[in-house]
Parts: sequence; structure tokens; C-alpha cells
Amino acid sequence: MPKHLLFVALAGHGHVNPTLPLVQELVRRGHRVDYATSAEHSEAVISAGARWVELDHPMDAMGAPPREFGPGEIAVFLRHMFAAMRSVYPVLREHCVTESPDVICYDAMNWLARVLAEELGLPAVRCIPNLASNEVYSLFASFMDGHGDENPLAAALADDCAEFSAEHGVELDPANLLDVTEKLNLVFIPREFQPAGDTFDERFHFIGPSLGSREHDEPWSPADPDAPVLFISLGTVFNDRPEFYRTCIEAFGEGPYQVAMSVGGLDLAELGDIPPTIDVRPHFPQPAVLRNAAAFVSHAGMNSTMESLYYGVGLITVPQMPEQAANAGRVQELGLGEQLDAATVTAESLRAAVARVASDSAVRANLDRMRKVIRESGGAVRGVDVIEEYLR
Ligand code: UDP
Repeated sequence: MPKHLLFVALAGHGHVNPTLPLVQELVRRGHRVDYATSAEHSEAVISAGARWVELDHPMDAMGAPPREFGPGEIAVFLRHMFAAMRSVYPVLREHCVTESPDVICYDAMNWLARVLAEELGLPAVRCIPNLASNEVYSLFASFMDGHGDENPLAAALADDCAEFSAEHGVELDPANLLDVTEKLNLVFIPREFQPAGDTFDERFHFIGPSLGSREHDEPWSPADPDAPVLFISLGTVFNDRPEFYRTCIEAFGEGPYQVAMSVGGLDLAELGDIPPTIDVRPHFPQPAVLRNAAAFVSHAGMNSTMESLYYGVGLITVPQMPEQAANAGRVQELGLGEQLDAATVTAESLRAAVARVASDSAVRANLDRMRKVIRESGGAVRGVDVIEEYLR
């Protein structure tokens, strides 16, 4: 029987993108999907087949991410997120009450959807686009390595949680806001990539990444069919890094790669002369570029990491913040690429790391294995099977 599902993800391409193939597959099977998100993602969710529910919130006021991204900055970011969630809570609650969906599928950061589901007695599915956490492995604890045991998240959010609880009459535990395990948790990575993967119980389904229609709908082919392609991207958030892109130009300007370098909204004048071997654009159709790539210099956002591994492309990671560093560490640990430090990377170290990753036979074997694992994880088709089973 067709169901009515409500997806909730306030912001972030990295949070919305991996859910879109699920939406496409659900709609293909005849289910009705509403998707509550900000205007920035309206087009994407509508083309996936969902009905857009507008969430208007103040996240945009945050501006560019800070250069240093330690516990203090994470706390500030989470308070902004909290304010955004709080401001859209009434709209989302009203929508749920009037439309009464059969289930709420929410991005793991979006605690307000969990609270609503609990309050209204609706089943919930938690969508996890990054490394999952349980009692053995905690992504958040990995951020705090070297920063002592205190949980700055709980401290930073204590007052916000207390106010929210008083205002809406629902309990919120600041120490546990983002890490509450649902009966069904979909993780968009394969279990093999998850640290302590075999300790996650049957509530966690590691369905791996899916590209959905992006695999075919966004064409790109290299200008020179014979020269190897190097893709460079820091994702959609951390683009204000002109010095890094200049280092890339210095490293690869004279070949041997034809380079596709995605720089988001950066002003190209900041990059100086750009040699003809380097194609710089605000945005590339990443899946199509990766399908042709010999190596990927990446910030190691989880979507980029998974898309690279989906195509068996080795990663040279230059993480810009702690979550990306955790992904990069895992890439290195599994022999799928090499991690460089954003603060000390040079043209020479970059060139050397790319040469090693692109030619090392052990890395190649690991990538081939991981590509197979990913292709067998089931992706959106398995994700929807599991959701349907849960709602039966
Ligand atoms: N992306 C893209 N073209 C670009 C840069 C990024 O299509 O030129 C997409 C990429 O395919 C991925 C997402 O944007 O799905 C970036 O997500 P990720 O988790 O890697 O990083 P974030 O942007 O959240 O830091």
C-alpha cells in the first residue's frame, strides 16, 4: 500500500544529496513524499519527485565557515543549527499535524524531527550521511581528541535546550541531542567503511551511497581523451581557500594531468594565471568527472569520499574540519588514499601524494575491493526495501 513519507533536512548539500535517490526510488514505487527543507534545495527535492515543504530559517546568516574549526567553532555552529531548528519547529509541527505522514525520515542532525515524531507518536527513520556512532565508536568523541573529556556540545546547548523544553513541553537532553538511535537508521556508507562497523546492531542498515539519476543526468567528458584526469574539489562549503587552489595550480600547472578544479563561488581573480591544463569552474558534475578520473584531491566530505570510492578513484585528502579529518583518517587506514594536512600542504607534497595514490598497486587493489563492496551495499533500492518493511 502506498505510504506518505515526510523527509526533513534543513540545510547542507551533503545532507540533502544522499537522500534524493531514496526519494526517487520511493516515488517510483508509488509512495508520496513531502520534503521539508530550505529554498536552496527546493529544486533538487522537487525534481526527485517530492512535494517541497518550505522551511525558512536563519542558517544563511552564518556566512563562510571559520578557518580554524575546533570544538569552540563546532559549538557555535551547533547553536546556529539549534536556532534554525527552533525557528522552524512550529511550521513543521503544523505540517505534521495537518498532513499526518506515515513516517518522518530525518537527517541525523535534524533533532527537531525526532522530537516531533516522538511527540506525535509517528515512526521515524534516521538518515546518517556521515560516520555513524554507537557505544563503541563516537564520531563526536573523535573530534575532541586532544581536547579533554568535557563535552563542549552539551555545555553550549544546555540553555537552548532548557528554553526549548520550557517553551514546547518536550524533553531535550543536550548531551544526547544528535546521537539518539532510532529503530531504523539508514547509513549512506558501507559497513566496511564504518569504524567498528561490526559492533552496530540490527537497527543500523549500511546501504552505502547511491547516485540515483545523477549518475546519468549530468554529462561530462575530458577534453583530451588520452591525458589522465585529476579532479580537485573542497566540496560546497569550504571554498574560500584561494591559497590552496593556488598550491594546486603550482603543483599541476605543467602536467601530466588535465585538471578539473571546482572552486564554488571563489573569485577567479584570486587565483592569478590559470594554465590551459587546468579547467577551473564553480561547479562540475562530480559523478561524471569521477567516472573519468585517475585521482581525486578532496576535502573528504562524506559524499565526495563515497562518490570517489563508488568509481574506484583513489583519494588525496586535505580535510578542512574535524568531521572530514575522521573520514580522511578512515580512507588512509583502509589504504584507499593518503591524507595531507591543510596547514602544511605544499605543491611538492601534493604532487608526490597524487603520484603515489594514482600508481600504487596495493591502493588499486583496495579501491577495487571497496568499489565492489559499495556496489553490493544495496543503495537506495535496499534503503526503500528496509523502509517498506519497517512500515509494514
Ligand atoms: N559537488 C558537485 N560538484 C562540485 C562540487 C561538489 O556535484 O563541483 C557535490 C558532490 O557530488 C557531493 C556534494 O556536492 O555530492 C558535496 O558533499 P560533501 O559531503 O562531499 O561535502 P560538503 O559540500 O558537504 O562539504
